[in-house]
Amino acid sequence: MTRKESPVLILGGGAWGLSTALHMLNAGYIDITVIERAEQIPSRYSAAWDLNKIVRAEYEDAFYTELALDAMEGWKTPLFGPYYHQTGYVVAATGRAPRKAIDHLEKALASISSHPTFAPEIRQLNGSKDFKDHTWQYSGPLTGFKGYFNRIAGYAHSADALKGIWEYCVSRGVKFIMGESAGKAVELLYAGGTAFAASSTGTGPEKVTGKGRCIGVRTADGKRHLSDLTICALGAYGAQLIPNLGNFIVARCWSVAHVQLSEAETDYLRGIPTTNVRDLGFFFEPDPKTRLFKLCPLGTGYTNTDGRGISLPPGDRLPPPQDYIPFEDEQKLRQLLRETFPWMAERPFVDQKLCWFADTADSEYCIDFVPDTDKSLVVLSGDSGHGFKMMPSFGKWVVELLDNDSQKLPRWQWRNTDSRGQDWSTSVSWRIGSSRELHDLIEDNSRVIKARL
Ligand SMILES: Cc1cc2nc3c(=O)[nH]c(=O)nc-3n(C[C@H](O)[C@H](O)[C@H](O)COP(=O)(O)OP(=O)(O)OC[C@H]3O[C@@H](n4cnc5c(N)ncnc54)[C@H](O)[C@@H]3O)c2cc1C
Repeated sequence: MTRKESPVLILGGGAWGLSTALHMLNAGYIDITVIERAEQIPSRYSAAWDLNKIVRAEYEDAFYTELALDAMEGWKTPLFGPYYHQTGYVVAATGRAPRKAIDHLEKALASISSHPTFAPEIRQLNGSKDFKDHTWQYSGPLTGFKGYFNRIAGYAHSADALKGIWEYCVSRGVKFIMGESAGKAVELLYAGGTAFAASSTGTGPEKVTGKGRCIGVRTADGKRHLSDLTICALGAYGAQLIPNLGNFIVARCWSVAHVQLSEAETDYLRGIPTTNVRDLGFFFEPDPKTRLFKLCPLGTGYTNTDGRGISLPPGDRLPPPQDYIPFEDEQKLRQLLRETFPWMAERPFVDQKLCWFADTADSEYCIDFVPDTDKSLVVLSGDSGHGFKMMPSFGKWVVELLDNDSQKLPRWQWRNTDSRGQDWSTSVSWRIGSSRELHDLIEDNSRVIKARL
């Protein structure tokens, strides 16, 4: 078991790495260093590198509902509260939604309708009049819309939350080593010799040798950082350093786009609920500082699978598809706007990007020791696109893992299964549509660009 005085390395200063640093501090660990590839936090490599994320507790699985409710209490504390906005949450499906989207909505509603905390806070919305009565700013036809409003939910400002918790951890003595050279972890060090070095293209490991106790990490500047415990919280990039993770976790990306609003338009939409239309996408109250209105399409997303069947975000030398979104996603978002706010449906989308996260086939997290490392290496992965809301409490579960010296919850254990090459699009109810590969997107996109010229 790691002693509280022992040097601990946390690789990755994203939502889960920072939360882990925070909770380990609170649990009395005194020698914590975070190694983060970006020059500053929030990192552009983090799945949470954007304006906001949905904070809601509707899950078909009561286990996550309770965790999310607990996290929401954390969002209301003085440390996290400045980033939380309880605007409420409208969940809907259009009249043209596929059965799967309607089923998901009905199950989510059932899960909270019978819950004592939520039951008095829910209002069913049947048809466009109900939606408009509830949120007067919706001005589109809302064709065939059905759904509900839940008051106990909203969003958190993700970029600001990451920055705020980073600064707080610094003020409490956590050390941060940052930047593409000093802060980029490129190789885990093992007592038995080198292992699992990231390739020079950033797409995957080149060597897989040696095993045994993990004794730290080498960074891109060649420095070795030694530790008694290494915690790998690299989000979508985890399999770069721990390749076996790629057998059951895939890096997947979703699109994000924004509309630039004027000051008056931003004020006009102030207070609208976070709105999630299950067959199209979701949006948030505009950000008052930047006046950006953020939208995300819903779909299964894109993977970037290499010859070994492991999906990782594209390396630095590949053309980074960071400045556009797939045409099919753009169409979904324009349709979403035509239904809700037609006055902005034809506006240009700005700050478009693909954001990468770590997905599991069943949406379960992985919070466990890596096998055969003598409990010297912990992996935090598999956020499956629903991990940000847990930021206030996530690190508590890492401290529990360390206290218990093993992962007691089977659902969060390391998996020896190999699900590479399988189609995950039908495995969980909220994934609508089928997954595609990034190279298909790049080809599609160049076709669209050519057609537009
Ligand atoms: C488009 C999109 C929408 C989402 N919406 C929601 C939502 O509404 N609600 C919700 O709860 N969740 C949402 N999520 C998921 C949420 O963002 C993630 O669950 C969360 O960010 C996971 O945290 P993490 O720390 O595991 O990974 P990340 O936040 O991605 O952090 C990983 C960190 O590792 C660093 N790193 C990577 N490689 C290296 C290296 N070699 N060396 C050092 N550092 C490295 C990165 O720079 C980054 O800071 C969404 C995700 C996406 C992509």
